[in-house]
Amino acid sequence: ENLLNITNLKTEVEGKEILKGLNLKINEGEIHVIMGPNGAGKSTLANTLMNHPKYNVVSGNIIFQGEEINDLKTDERAKRGLFLSFQYPEEISGITVENFLKSAKKSSGGSVLKHLKFDLDLKKNMKELKMDTSYAKRYLNVGFSGGEKKKNEILQMLTLEPKLAILDETDSGLDVDAVRTVSSGIKMFSNENNAVLIITHNTKILENLKPDYVHILVDGKIVKTGNGSLAREIEEKGYEDYKKTL
Ligand code: ADP
Ligand code: MG
Ligand code: MG
Repeated sequence: ENLLNITNLKTEVEGKEILKGLNLKINEGEIHVIMGPNGAGKSTLANTLMNHPKYNVVSGNIIFQGEEINDLKTDERAKRGLFLSFQYPEEISGITVENFLKSAKKSSGGSVLKHLKFDLDLKKNMKELKMDTSYAKRYLNVGFSGGEKKKNEILQMLTLEPKLAILDETDSGLDVDAVRTVSSGIKMFSNENNAVLIITHNTKILENLKPDYVHILVDGKIVKTGNGSLAREIEEKGYEDYKKTL
């Protein structure tokens, strides 16, 4: 059984069909990459998987761990182990990074009863991500630089330990060092029991990760699937060849 099995998914946003029959299977232990031109529907796929209210499934199925989740609410999906890192993380004044993570962990079913362990893990993960541990006491993303916001998303992923982490352009707008740090955070997270779906425009983030599959998404469909070399080919040649086949 696949961890995630998406069949013939059609999604509309504001009355417009964006995903036009998308198929995707992800198994435990795998790292998948989705690349594609702007406006292809990459974020729409990510948002549909979390059931963002603006994105409506018209037809098709989303099966997660053997269960059809088409009608599940966002928090119910999170509880089952789906996680989305946003392209544009929000600033939330009034809640600290630490308290946000604690309550997110609790509501996703994790136990934070062992506070000492939570605190230790948090410190350890922040150090790995080269984040100043004083940020734990700061309001969520408020006054954070672009890079710090993205690292904070990776920190959430490491804390929540989802079954499937979807990262929507977590590496965009980051300097080379921050990309490397984000990349090693993903490497730290990835294991035999979980999976990662990385949406990106850059191969830099993939250098130290070994993606099992690279998918090209054009006009609401996956038009090609390959391995790591497909990502390098796209970086060199762009998407023109794939657009022509439409
Ligand atoms: P990508 O992430 O591949 O660049 P998106 O999934 O963000 O593409 O967008 C695909 C199409 O859907 C675009 O034409 C975009 O304008 C439209 N779209 C996406 N989200 C919304 C939204 N919330 N409201 C209106 N249109 C949207
Ligand atoms: Mg996008
Ligand atoms: Mg919906």
